[in-house]
Amino acid sequence: MRTPTVRFAPSPTGRIHLGNARTALFNYLFARRHAGRFILRFDDTDLERSREEYAQAIEVDLTWLGITPDLTVRQSQRFALYAAAADKLKAMGRLYPCFETADELDRRRKRQIGRGLPPVYDRAALKLTQEEKAELIAQGRKPHWRFQLDHRTVNWNDLVRGPSHIDCASLSDPVLMREDGSWLYTLPSVVDDLDLGVTHVIRGEDHVTNTAVQIQLFELLGSADRVPDFAHHNLLASSSGEGLSKRSGALSIAGLRDSGIESLAVATLAVLTGSSDSVQAVRSLDELQVKFDITHTSRGSAKFDPAELDGLSARTLHGLDYEAVQDRLAAHDIAGHKAEPFWLAVRGNLTTFLDVTVWWRVVEGEIERVVEDRELLDAALRLLPPEPWDATTFAQWNGAIKQATGRKGKALFHPLRLALTGREQGPEMANLLPLIGRARVTARLV
Ligand code: GLU
Repeated sequence: MRTPTVRFAPSPTGRIHLGNARTALFNYLFARRHAGRFILRFDDTDLERSREEYAQAIEVDLTWLGITPDLTVRQSQRFALYAAAADKLKAMGRLYPCFETADELDRRRKRQIGRGLPPVYDRAALKLTQEEKAELIAQGRKPHWRFQLDHRTVNWNDLVRGPSHIDCASLSDPVLMREDGSWLYTLPSVVDDLDLGVTHVIRGEDHVTNTAVQIQLFELLGSADRVPDFAHHNLLASSSGEGLSKRSGALSIAGLRDSGIESLAVATLAVLTGSSDSVQAVRSLDELQVKFDITHTSRGSAKFDPAELDGLSARTLHGLDYEAVQDRLAAHDIAGHKAEPFWLAVRGNLTTFLDVTVWWRVVEGEIERVVEDRELLDAALRLLPPEPWDATTFAQWNGAIKQATGRKGKALFHPLRLALTGREQGPEMANLLPLIGRARVTARLV
């Protein structure tokens, strides 16, 4: 296979959500797997709706997911390329001006539907004479521009969907440029894919219908051997059947981050939902990359239950190595020689990462200790072994307390846990004890 160049091409008109993360990660993991290039392309030709702050927010969200683009481009800075491509199409006689208003087109479509015909643009504008066009322009009418499709069947071998074809005779000639001179998505996308050497277009299956048109444009503006491979993946939907809308804010990447969900869990769910691999926690994007193969992506539905995310996030945390979280711990002032054993002691008890601050207070700070059995604590204090302590200290100490007091089982452990941690439950006391250290333990037993 040629070394791939892929792109993720969001419109910066809102924040990205879990469904967009799926497309972004499919591209990114595919590029990584084949040592290729990943381009972030902002489809911001709609200057009204696109916002720089959304572009920046999308970059933040992608970084959080672990995606670092090799190149970032903005379509709003590439208009000259699109104009040149349009000129080329005009010179080939394949881009033609149309003057119908939206109302006229609408009435025409309704008539066609009424007669049982497909509502395809009838190419009436192609029949306008030079004089008629000049007359319309003199009246102040501005044309929009349509691409004259070649009425043939376009075939491609979709990496997800297999052999695919669309009969272009069944399509309306697509509008490439609006009357105000602004670009629709179709042409700029092809121009950029050619210019940036994109080899694989991996996107949602809502773009299947654009593909035949775009392949014709690739062939005209580039050449047949520069048509990229296409992979149209199924779209994520929550198990209640709703799609994910960019504007609803539901399951936006930023929202998930704010609620403490692990980025790796988000990536895992986004990538593995609907695959033959069940959605199980992974330890790194590398591991996810190994599990992911675009050509094995199912065509069936990709439904998931948003409620799964909390559990998946917790399970993801439980498997993370210290190296994976070192910087995040340091950001909470959890550093130094205790940091790694601390992480290994508490990770299995975390629901969200922020819970580390609770346990760090238990080992390094002040707690509200609870005295349940004064007599037991007195004995425990008396029998407290000298340091150095390790993971076996707790068992030895317990043995001694048991002998001295006759307490055992819960009656022994529970008061100790409450006194030393202030909590009913938590990480193994054997691991916590050396981290809390003799001085703090003593203070909490007194
Ligand atoms: N801006 C388009 C979208 O967000 C990109 C589609 C494509 O990947 O070609 O749907």
